[in-house]
Amino acid sequence: MRVTIALLVPLQRSAQAVIDLVLPPRCPACRAIVDGDDRFCSGCWQQLVFLTTPCCACCGTPFDHDRGPGTLCAPCLADPPRFDMARAAFGYEGAARSVLLSFKHGDRQHLARLMATHMARAGADMLGGDVLLVPVPLHRWRLWRRGFNQAALLARVLAGRGHGALAVDALLRVRATLASAGMGRKARAANVRGAFKVRDRGLVRGRRILLIDDVLTTGATANACARLLRRAGAVEVRVLTFARVVRDGGSTIVHPPYGNGIEADAH
Ligand SMILES: [Zn+2]
Ligand SMILES: [Zn+2]
Repeated sequence: MRVTIALLVPLQRSAQAVIDLVLPPRCPACRAIVDGDDRFCSGCWQQLVFLTTPCCACCGTPFDHDRGPGTLCAPCLADPPRFDMARAAFGYEGAARSVLLSFKHGDRQHLARLMATHMARAGADMLGGDVLLVPVPLHRWRLWRRGFNQAALLARVLAGRGHGALAVDALLRVRATLASAGMGRKARAANVRGAFKVRDRGLVRGRRILLIDDVLTTGATANACARLLRRAGAVEVRVLTFARVVRDGGSTIVHPPYGNGIEADAH
């Protein structure tokens, strides 16, 4: 049985790749036919919550009006994150949520290209130069079950497009954590305590790190990783995700004109 499944999964994947080549391009969120690769249909485009300025200088929580440069949101003031800055392309809702879930659980890894394009837009100021792209690791059991680490896939696409050097194993997840959906802030922090380890301190010492993940929720995982990376001598730890949960109101929704304002990165 194990052999059959091991054979079927790659076959299924290559069959999907062939289908994707032959059939007309589809909206990455709802799969309606669209007029070009990696384009959302107009309905899904309207659902996307683009996270732009003005926002918290640290965590990127959108503000409903400009409060001046360097302004922090209340949660960052009360409990400063261990990372220097976090940015995400979209609010974790609507079409962005659909894309992320089918990427992660629907065996549609090709969506990494589109996701990375939007991440590069949101994190333009954080990418390039000598930055080291470090994906948030999965525990080996989860990796074995899912077959891939979604964060590593995104980091790999970004590195392939020249946005930074890839250090896919800089962090290890040494303890399996529980699925954190439904957990509060404190429970999430406890859940990831002691879960990560820096594999090679020499790799991160003195480096500017950009932690890559698919989604930022409370920031507990990013915080735990940033604390370790700083202890290992990283000079800066920033975070870039495809989506993030927007905690409180004032979200700034700016829709670029439909027609796929985002051009794919050169690669
Ligand atoms: Zn759609
Ligand atoms: Zn903040």
